Amino acid sequence: MPNILKTASLLFILPFIANLAFTHDRIGGFNSGLDRTISFPDTKDYLTISSDLHTHSVFSDGHVWPNIRVAEAEKDSIDVLAITEHLEYQPHTNFIPNEDRNAAYSEAKKASEGTDLIVIAGSEITREMPPGHMNAVFIEDANKLFNMNKDRLPEAKELIDERAKDMNLSKEEMVVIEKYALGNLWPAVEALLEAKKQGAFVFWNHPMWGSQAPDGVARLSDMHIDFISKDLMHGIEIVNTDTYSEEAFQIALDNNLALIGTSDVHNLIEWDYNAHKNEHRPVTLIFAKRRTEKSIREALFNRRTVVVYKDKLMGRDNDLMPLLESILSAKSDGYRKGTRILKVEITNNSSSDMTLKNLSQVNFVDGDDFIVVPKKGNVNLNVKTLEKLKNLNLQFEVLNALTAPKQNPVIEFEIRI
Ligand SMILES: [Zn+2]
Ligand SMILES: [Zn+2]
Repeated sequence: MPNILKTASLLFILPFIANLAFTHDRIGGFNSGLDRTISFPDTKDYLTISSDLHTHSVFSDGHVWPNIRVAEAEKDSIDVLAITEHLEYQPHTNFIPNEDRNAAYSEAKKASEGTDLIVIAGSEITREMPPGHMNAVFIEDANKLFNMNKDRLPEAKELIDERAKDMNLSKEEMVVIEKYALGNLWPAVEALLEAKKQGAFVFWNHPMWGSQAPDGVARLSDMHIDFISKDLMHGIEIVNTDTYSEEAFQIALDNNLALIGTSDVHNLIEWDYNAHKNEHRPVTLIFAKRRTEKSIREALFNRRTVVVYKDKLMGRDNDLMPLLESILSAKSDGYRKGTRILKVEITNNSSSDMTLKNLSQVNFVDGDDFIVVPKKGNVNLNVKTLEKLKNLNLQFEVLNALTAPKQNPVIEFEIRI
C-alpha cells in the first residue's frame, strides 16, 4: 500500500480508536433518582456483607451484558455478585457463540475494576429433577464443570424425543436443546465432585420452582441426601426471585445447610424490582470477619447467613439476633413535663421497614401494640409507665423476622432513663 494511503487510512482509524468501547466498560449514566440502596449494619462480631449469588447474562439465558449486572449491583449497594450462567443451556448461542464458560465472569470482573464490588466466579449446573439446578460459587474453572460427549448424541436425541417431540423446534433451537440434553447425560455428581475439587460452595437453586416441583413444595430427594452426606451441597435457596419456601427453610435447619436468597435475575433489576414501591431484590447477608473473598467463603461454609426478602429477615437465631440488635435500638428522651409518660425513641438502622409487636407490660399513649419503624428512620413512643422509673424493659416480637418457619424472634431493650 502506498504510504500516502496508509497515512490516510490511519487518520481515519485514529478517531475511532479514541472512542473505542470495550464490552466490559463500566456503565454509568441512567439514574432514576430513587434510592435503591440495600444496607444493613455490621454486627458486634462480624461485617455484614450483602450478596446476590445467582444472576444471569446473555452468556446463558439472561438478556443483558455482564457489565449491566455490575452497574445494577453498584446501584443496589450489593457487596458481592456472582453471574452464574447455565453451563448446559445457552439459548443465545447462535448469536453469541462462546465455548468459554468463564466469559461472563471475566467480563464482569473487568467491569468491576475500580469499584468496591467483589465479583466471584460461579456457574449453574443445570439438570432435570433430581437434582434440578445447583449453583457452584467460588469456582476456579467453569469449563471443567460440564461435559458434552458427542458420542452420546443418539441417547440425547432419545431424551429430546421423549420430552420435546411436540414442541416443533426450529433447527437453531434443536442445536441448543441437543447440547442441553448432552449436558444432562453427564451425572450431576461428577460436576459436583469437580466443584468440590475446586473448593466451591454449592447450593440447590429454587427447590420450590413450579416446573420442577409442581405442588410448589421443596423436598429433598435421595440424590440430595447423598450430596449432603458427601459434603457436595452446602446451602439451599429458601428465596428465589419472588418465591419463598417454608419447606426449604425447614430443610436447611434440619440438614445444616446455609440459608440462601437470590434474585436469579434474567432481565433488568430495575424492571423486576421497583424502588418506588419500596421493592428491592432478595439478597443473602453474609457475616464475615473481613471483606475478602476468602473470608466470605469461610462464612458461607460456616452457614453464617440471613436472607432478606421483601423487608423480611430470615436466619438462624445465632445470626439473626446479633443483626437485629445492630438494626434496632431504643433510648429514653425523659418524662414529659408534669407527667408519668416516658418518651422513647426506637431507631431502625437498616433499609428494611421493621414491624414490631409490643409484648411488654406497659402500653402507649400513641397507639396499639403494632409499631412500624421505617427504614433508616425512627418512631417516638409515649410510654405509660404509671410510676416514674429509672430503667424500663421493653420487649417486642419482630414480625418481619423469622428464625424458623412461622417463628418470630423477640428483641429486648433495657432502657436507662
Ligand atoms: Zn435455575
Ligand atoms: Zn438461574
